[in-house]
Amino acid sequence: MLNFEEDTKPSGMPPGMMRAGAFDAVTTKKPVVSIENAEQVDSALPARTAGRIRVEDKRIINCNADVNQLVPFKYKWAWEKYLAACANHWMPQEVNMTADIALWKSDKLSEDERLLVKRNLGFFTTADSLAANNIVLGTYRHISNPECRQYLLRQAFEEAIHTHAYQYIVESLGLDEGEIFNMYHEVASIRAKDEFLLPFIDTLTNPAFKTGTPEADRQLLRSLIVFACIMEGLFFYVGFVQILALGRQNKMTGAAEQYQYILRDESMHLNFGVDVINQIKMENPHLWTSEFREEVRGLIRKGVELEYAYAEDTMPRGVLGLNSGMFKEYLRFIANRRCQQIGVDVLYQGATNPFPWMAEMIDLKKEKNFFETRVTEYQTGGALSWD
Ligand code: FE
Repeated sequence: MLNFEEDTKPSGMPPGMMRAGAFDAVTTKKPVVSIENAEQVDSALPARTAGRIRVEDKRIINCNADVNQLVPFKYKWAWEKYLAACANHWMPQEVNMTADIALWKSDKLSEDERLLVKRNLGFFTTADSLAANNIVLGTYRHISNPECRQYLLRQAFEEAIHTHAYQYIVESLGLDEGEIFNMYHEVASIRAKDEFLLPFIDTLTNPAFKTGTPEADRQLLRSLIVFACIMEGLFFYVGFVQILALGRQNKMTGAAEQYQYILRDESMHLNFGVDVINQIKMENPHLWTSEFREEVRGLIRKGVELEYAYAEDTMPRGVLGLNSGMFKEYLRFIANRRCQQIGVDVLYQGATNPFPWMAEMIDLKKEKNFFETRVTEYQTGGALSWD
């Protein structure tokens, strides 16, 4: 028989024998064993260890196992992405903006280049706040797996770092904060992208939304696809190409360096999202109907149209050797890639990549960043010394 008393050392039973969740985590009350009933306790032990979490019980959604136990790992890809993301840590204020500030104050940037920078920031300054809210207030609640949640916690912090980076650029250049931070209300092509996203984010952040039925699970899957493949995987890419293209011409190199780190983070967010989507499909094949796959293709096609309109709006006359026609092809190429990653038929047969240098930007294993020579492998806390 178990009885309870105030905090004492567990007696007679190794701590590991106790089922997770058996104690109230807030109080310090722990069960103790009374000697006269020890035999009864012994016979209860196998039943208790049998209640431990087994790898095969873990699932990405609708999992009844305790979400507070990180191990045993089932989804090692999630844990490995968490470790890789931590190893990529960076902070905006480490990046020197002196050259950008001097260039912005000079007459060496054209009006088209200035418009591009401002409309670019006009999308990104609020996009990563949307992304953070989507994770913290939405996705996190519905993903019932601790190793995926561990990555989502890291991802949420990275979204905060990205918002910080855009704010830091706006502040460094002395831009009109009200103008930039309100562009998502005031510039039609930016507003259209956000208005497309909001219903899918609202689904997940609605306190009344719960998974557990095929309809609700499909709603979750749809929102995850929109967030990973369209928002992070498509809506960010015109903006990334633009600022990185400036950097390649030795313009706005501080901003470009920050965008390079953001791109590295975001490509991991995308890959994590794709892994989650594919794992949910595998565990819930009934969700992945041909009708649903067609719906997903339609959403991606709509995403391409919206992002193309944004490309035209940020580069009305062509700038930096870039023009919106190149972006039309690039977006089709990227959209095909997203289709392949989640296993739906490609949308644009034969689309090619007009910006092959972007692959280098994404894949570069950076001992050094592309624009300067600063070492960017930001490893901290890896070697504690106890001397
Ligand atoms: Fe992200």
